[in-house]
Amino acid sequence: MSKLAILGGEPVVKTPADEIKGLFKWPIVNKAMEDGVLSVLRDGNMSGTDITRKFETEFAKWNGTKYALAHSSGTASLQAAMFGIGLGVGDELICPSVTYWASGLPALSLGATIVFAEIDPKTLCLDPKDFEKRITPRTKAVVVVHYCAYPAPMDEIMAIARKHNIKVIEDVSHAQGGYYKGKMLGTFGDVGAMSLMSGKSFAIGEGGILVTDNDEIYQRAMLWGHYERANSITLPGLAEYKGLPAGGYKYRMHQLSSVVGLEQLKKYDDEIAAIDKAMNYFWDQLADIKGLDSHRPSDKGSTKAGWYACKGLYDSKAFGGLSLSYFIKAIQAEGGQGFAAGCNAALHTHPLFHTFDVYGAGKPTNTANLPAGAEPKQGEGDLPVSETICNSAFSIPWFKHFNKQVIDEQVAAVRKVAENYKELLASDPKEPVVGKFFQTARKN
Ligand SMILES: *Cc1c(COP(=O)(O)O)cnc(C)c1O
Repeated sequence: MSKLAILGGEPVVKTPADEIKGLFKWPIVNKAMEDGVLSVLRDGNMSGTDITRKFETEFAKWNGTKYALAHSSGTASLQAAMFGIGLGVGDELICPSVTYWASGLPALSLGATIVFAEIDPKTLCLDPKDFEKRITPRTKAVVVVHYCAYPAPMDEIMAIARKHNIKVIEDVSHAQGGYYKGKMLGTFGDVGAMSLMSGKSFAIGEGGILVTDNDEIYQRAMLWGHYERANSITLPGLAEYKGLPAGGYKYRMHQLSSVVGLEQLKKYDDEIAAIDKAMNYFWDQLADIKGLDSHRPSDKGSTKAGWYACKGLYDSKAFGGLSLSYFIKAIQAEGGQGFAAGCNAALHTHPLFHTFDVYGAGKPTNTANLPAGAEPKQGEGDLPVSETICNSAFSIPWFKHFNKQVIDEQVAAVRKVAENYKELLASDPKEPVVGKFFQTARKN
């Protein structure tokens, strides 16, 4: 085997980078989407709700829920879901520490406390055992993230939540269209909410959507940020407040997004199938390499729809202690595209949750409404898996199409480095990996 490219050898990848990156291009915009956007624009119909309501109907049908409510962003849909289930002052919301911030942060404006929980190092999703440990008499809800498209262990999570009478919010931002044991994600919890922004698998522009079977959650979410839905709010106790958004927010989706969404629904399942074929092929070729795990579910009927922000898992011990950062640099030197070390930084270490008095209550906001002494232990060292996972999780090329030749070359880049890792040990600078999107860490 030739010498590794990072040490001066010949790179294994011959296809030009631009050509490889062409397979990553997302979203796939077709003529129907372009025509739809132009017609909304020419009709001056951006702020209506006629197209958005059609999109909601079709989305709910596709996702297998009674209701869907479109939002201006995934963040807005998550906050509406939190209000929908009744999260409020003094309540605790359990949230995995490794996720995008919007899974939990909207809870702060409701007066609730975010209690971060550990992730499982294999699934990268909420660790059910740690979730149960963090339940207190104040725990109102848990937000479950299907992180990087991996379906979270819903059997375990739902059993714990039901036992303790805790509401479940599914954040499906990474996994639209995915299944857990044959059932679609977003249909397990009391409510699902998700981003549909351009980087996500189901990409329609800035936007989000809430899905639920529950009338009360649906109507509360409408009352929260959709003043124009007055006629749809009928439940006693809510109907008297219709006409003004109870949260003081305006969260409707603009129709340039919903018209794209209607078209995206028509082709998304086919796109998922193409991505699935490409990504599974990529990992199947690497199945024999010890120390690399493909971060795909093995349960029958569980899928990684769309493979958003797809990851692999690296076990440094299997490579003589070689750092992930150097392993990835070596793959990049071979011409590897889309490889990057790390994932989201552990949220619980950020000072926002410990010291910032956002609303001027005279106390740090995240714990302002807890009884004295009830602050959760959330400093550095309290969630060790979340704090170190950046040194084993890494991004892999996100192929949107199956192209055997290109994928084989990327596989060869990984294989060459994995099989010759010993050549790297002497020069490993062992740079620690920094997570997204911040680098601060709080000491206990
Ligand atoms: C993107 C994302 C969101 C937020 O969605 P926006 O549309 O960007 O507001 C929420 N949760 C997760 C897990 C996300 O990745």
